[in-house]
Amino acid sequence: MSLKILRQDFDKWMIPVYNPAKFIPVYAKGSIVWDQSGKDYIDFTGGIAVNVLGHAHPLLKKTLEKQASSLWHIGNGYTNEPILRLAKELTNSTFADKVFFCNSGAEANETAMKLARKVAKDRFGKNKINILAFNNAFHGRTFFTVKAGGKSDYSKYFEPLPKEIQHASFNDIKSVAKLINENTCAVIIEPIQGEGGVIPADISFLSKLRELCDKYDALLIFDEVQSGIGRTGWLYAYMYYGVIPDILTSAKALGGGFPIGAVLTKQDLAIMMNVGSHGTTYGGNPLAGAVAGKVLELIKKDKIMEGVSQRHIWIVTHLNEINKNLNIFKEIRGLGLMIGAVLNASFINKADYINKLSAEHGVMVLIAGSNVIRFTPALNISEQEINIGMQRFAKACESFIKIK
Ligand SMILES: *Cc1c(COP(=O)(O)O)cnc(C)c1O
Repeated sequence: MSLKILRQDFDKWMIPVYNPAKFIPVYAKGSIVWDQSGKDYIDFTGGIAVNVLGHAHPLLKKTLEKQASSLWHIGNGYTNEPILRLAKELTNSTFADKVFFCNSGAEANETAMKLARKVAKDRFGKNKINILAFNNAFHGRTFFTVKAGGKSDYSKYFEPLPKEIQHASFNDIKSVAKLINENTCAVIIEPIQGEGGVIPADISFLSKLRELCDKYDALLIFDEVQSGIGRTGWLYAYMYYGVIPDILTSAKALGGGFPIGAVLTKQDLAIMMNVGSHGTTYGGNPLAGAVAGKVLELIKKDKIMEGVSQRHIWIVTHLNEINKNLNIFKEIRGLGLMIGAVLNASFINKADYINKLSAEHGVMVLIAGSNVIRFTPALNISEQEINIGMQRFAKACESFIKIK
């Protein structure tokens, strides 16, 4: 007998680290999601920048089913065909020569920082241990990554945390110059801060950051967990910026909804890791490898990245129109399909409330902090889905202005 599930059951049985929406999604296709009552929602969240080809893409489903009928999991005492194909594709398409696979963004960043620590220790001795990160950054929820993130709200409860991590100001090269020195082993940065409010780095800032890293023999880590896999219209945002990192982390959209993370780097750094120096049980499993391989293939074959700037324009045009009528946003910013609408000073801390009203009106959006509404839809969202979703979002904004 199957158990009837209600939203209240979340509060009954789940450790309360989330406060999920009032409805429970049960089915989805493309960029439309249906809840238990059959109500439909246009999905501008893309599962938080994950479902890069929308929900239930028929060819991803086919790939998953095919792999599921041959080999799910085998353990790292053996390698497997899908993950090696994926490694070849990722190294062929990027600056990297070598890849390590894991299961999430946090794990990828944790690995990147461990790699940087080991390289620095082996090459320069025991004092080169500092990691420079940025205020407002987000790198995941492990002890190491949550400390690297620039938000004490996420980390303060769990102290003591790993030390030797400092924070500079994003897009402020002077603040970096003050903190970086010969004891810095790595600088970790999101080329576009996601959770921190959808803030793209300036091109000149990133290239000066690269120069400072070279000057002090610090490895430059780009956290492209959110900005990667076509989201900016480029496979990785570093290609748009023309600044090449030493280590790049990828996750979220890499699996199109199937959990996988990856760390990409150059040969001379990769060889500093030896057998046994790092590992994970599920990382690099054949199911994840097969699905991620298909995601990359489809993004190329269906010219998905070529359509990103058009979709950016459609969404931003709608947001500007809403703003013309309601004067609700101070700024609309972002790159490609990573878009943030920053609320006016008079609506401070109201992002979450607008998010809830949007759901009531049949559209799913994200927030990034308490003042930014964030849009990270599937890269293949249709013009019609955008139009319908934006009409609903406009209604939600109108009702917000009336009630607020
Ligand atoms: C989501 C995110 C992470 C963490 O990824 P998880 O898979 O949740 O561990 C790290 N960095 C950035 C930039 C992210 O957006």
